[in-house]
Amino acid sequence: MLSFLLKNHEIGHYSGYQTRVFADYFYELSSEDDIAKLAEIYQWTQNERIPLLIIGGGTNLLFASDLYEWVVIKNSLSGWQYDTVSNILYTSSDESIWEIANQLETKYYQPLWHRFIGLPGSIGWAIYGNAGCFGLETESNFVSCEVYDMLSNEQKTIPKSEMWFSYRHSFLKDNPHLFLISATFDLSEKHEKYHSDVDNIYFREHQQPKGNSCGSFFKNPSKENSAGSLIERVGLKGYRHGGAYWSTLHANFLMSDGLSCPPSDLIWLVWLTQEIVKKETGIELENEVRIIENIPSKK
Ligand SMILES: Cc1cc2nc3c(=O)[nH]c(=O)nc-3n(C[C@H](O)[C@H](O)[C@H](O)COP(=O)(O)OP(=O)(O)OC[C@H]3O[C@@H](n4cnc5c(N)ncnc54)[C@H](O)[C@@H]3O)c2cc1C
Repeated sequence: MLSFLLKNHEIGHYSGYQTRVFADYFYELSSEDDIAKLAEIYQWTQNERIPLLIIGGGTNLLFASDLYEWVVIKNSLSGWQYDTVSNILYTSSDESIWEIANQLETKYYQPLWHRFIGLPGSIGWAIYGNAGCFGLETESNFVSCEVYDMLSNEQKTIPKSEMWFSYRHSFLKDNPHLFLISATFDLSEKHEKYHSDVDNIYFREHQQPKGNSCGSFFKNPSKENSAGSLIERVGLKGYRHGGAYWSTLHANFLMSDGLSCPPSDLIWLVWLTQEIVKKETGIELENEVRIIENIPSKK
């Protein structure tokens, strides 16, 4: 075993559902000096045939089990700067997109990312999954990112043209051996998918449930049939199973009671909902939140 890995570490508190979960091996990446260790960890997991998981803010992860014979890496690379002359934003991958958007406005009078105020999670995932809201997508002002290839043990720059951004998707999602270190954005021009006058701060404050969640659980099948409206139509809005329940405020927000909620309650409610919506409407609900299934290590 690699001496710098922590053993038997509680990782549930890193997920938006706050359930109790342990991992056999854990490593926190706190500075760029630690990056070189990634190749060593990756190689060791390949040799030992142990699954590897990267966590950023944990607001897009549902742990399906309470114990993982895995290596879990918590990304904690922080730091960002904004050049008011070139409008170039450079940021490390574990910075909060919400916090940056807030400070851009209050400190630099730069309102271009106003709609990201209230969006949870790290820049790392926002790029990885092309997070977006109110007509603004992470890809909109993206220029390039620095990644560390854990397979080839090299650092690379990936320009926008090679990121294959689409709805909640990027090239990084198909290449889990790439660790996102930092990224550059050009905030000199507004690019929006659609125009929105929604007051996002009021919306986040008053129309989104508070508590243990990872936001919208399912992707919206279409504009006419949002996941929330389908869950409501089949009578599951606010429905509870053990420590897991659908919000009464926003039907597509899966909520948990935290430590007292066994991960299996969440998994069962997701499965039940997909079954009933499919049976009653013929529509397949696809997860937006990533379910971390516990594939046993092959060691
Ligand atoms: C209340 C609420 C409201 C939300 N509203 C929205 C919304 O309006 N629009 C929207 O798009 N999303 C929304 N979300 C989802 C949330 O914004 C995303 O889930 C968030 O961006 C995830 O970021 P994270 O850092 O928490 O990712 P995590 O959950 O920590 O990471 C998810 C995955 O990303 C990958 N990853 C993370 N960091 C790196 C890295 N550095 N290198 C490589 N891979 C990495 C890993 O594979 C990891 O498993 C909402 C969530 C909540 C809780």
